[in-house]
Amino acid sequence: MSANPEESGNDISGVEIVLDHVSKTYPGQKVPAVADVSLTIPAGEIVVFVGPSGSGKTTTMRMINRLIEPTSGTITIGGRDALSLDANKLRQSIGYAIQQGGLFPHMTVSQNIAVVPKLLKWKRARISERVTELLDLVGLDPEQFGDRFPRQLSGGQQQRVGVARALAADPPVLLMDEPFGAVDPITRGLLQDELMQLQAELRKTIVFVTHDFNEAVKLGDRIAVLGDQSRVLQYDTPEAILANPANETVEGFVGRGAALQQLNLMRVRDVEIEHRPTAHEGDDVAEFSARIDTWGVILDDRDRPVRWTDREHLNGVTSLKGVGLPLGEIVTTASTLQDALEAILAERNAATVVTGARGRYVGVITIETLVDTIRSLREEHEGNPPIADPLAASDDVPEPTTEGPRR
Ligand code: ADP
Ligand code: MG
Repeated sequence: MSANPEESGNDISGVEIVLDHVSKTYPGQKVPAVADVSLTIPAGEIVVFVGPSGSGKTTTMRMINRLIEPTSGTITIGGRDALSLDANKLRQSIGYAIQQGGLFPHMTVSQNIAVVPKLLKWKRARISERVTELLDLVGLDPEQFGDRFPRQLSGGQQQRVGVARALAADPPVLLMDEPFGAVDPITRGLLQDELMQLQAELRKTIVFVTHDFNEAVKLGDRIAVLGDQSRVLQYDTPEAILANPANETVEGFVGRGAALQQLNLMRVRDVEIEHRPTAHEGDDVAEFSARIDTWGVILDDRDRPVRWTDREHLNGVTSLKGVGLPLGEIVTTASTLQDALEAILAERNAATVVTGARGRYVGVITIETLVDTIRSLREEHEGNPPIADPLAASDDVPEPTTEGPRR
């Protein structure tokens, strides 16, 4: 974390949430849907509730913003007893995102995002400024999308708007109930990456519900594995749960081949990011060409990578606009090495471009870096069965050598 108050971007804005012996029995039911849950959710972390359908994840989550009132127990948010607060006020301070964004179909994207700020009686100009800022934050062009209706958006775009709406009044706490459950796997992976990127900037307290353990491993700072009636079977970091499942039920849920998840646990930001020459679309061609040894990256006016180019591409052209080749898959600093590996194998440069906050260019990650990382991971795991070689199927990968990792 930054000690400099000027760089407050990485300071924690979230607050701690404590569930203490919380239970819920729905009216007319004999058995509680949630029985005696106690959990502390640290400020500024993503805690994922993962468990099978019917295990009471949604019920537990909705007790935090009091869409459901607990039958017994206490919930403390940022040191205040949630049950003693006005329920409407409480809900305005907690962002809530659900599957398919939960958008109001008769409202435009902008109107959807403005719902809570309007309830809070913000001035019109402030609301419109905030809507623009949020659309930008979740990667949607405000001019293009602000006046559309939800039905005119793809599932992934609706989901982004749902996240923007949940963030509208800058709440310290965000509740997300299977928010990416209804989109295709590729979009889902992208949205997960974007959420992590956002969280690196925002540092809110996020409670995220899913029944997908891989999603939990990818997103969670901590994972609460929930059984029947939301009984907490294990509550720990993804690393600890993968290494030491508390019991057979958790083990079954984690699945076999946990060692393979190694690459899912390391992030692009954990390894060496290299640099390539960059230029903006309006820059001088000859000057850029002179700086390129192998290949370089062309950025748009918001520093987002758009295309890559080698020197041959630049022969005889007068402008960098449209030159070179489109970038394939891009990863973010928060992406897993597994994602990076897949992206690299799909690129003919044997490298993939890395972006940071708001899609801005950060650098590139190369196959050499990944091979080195995989090697050192293996060495750390000597004595354990070696992890399968994820590169074995690919032709264009250097033969393993006997030399050790570079670092
Ligand atoms: P999950 O989100 O893990 O799938 P839920 O919290 O939705 O689990 O449901 C937990 C249990 O509570 C389930 O058995 C479900 O049938 C029951 N339940 C959920 N909502 C209600 C309700 N409004 N009235 C009665 N029972 C409910
Ligand atoms: Mg649910």
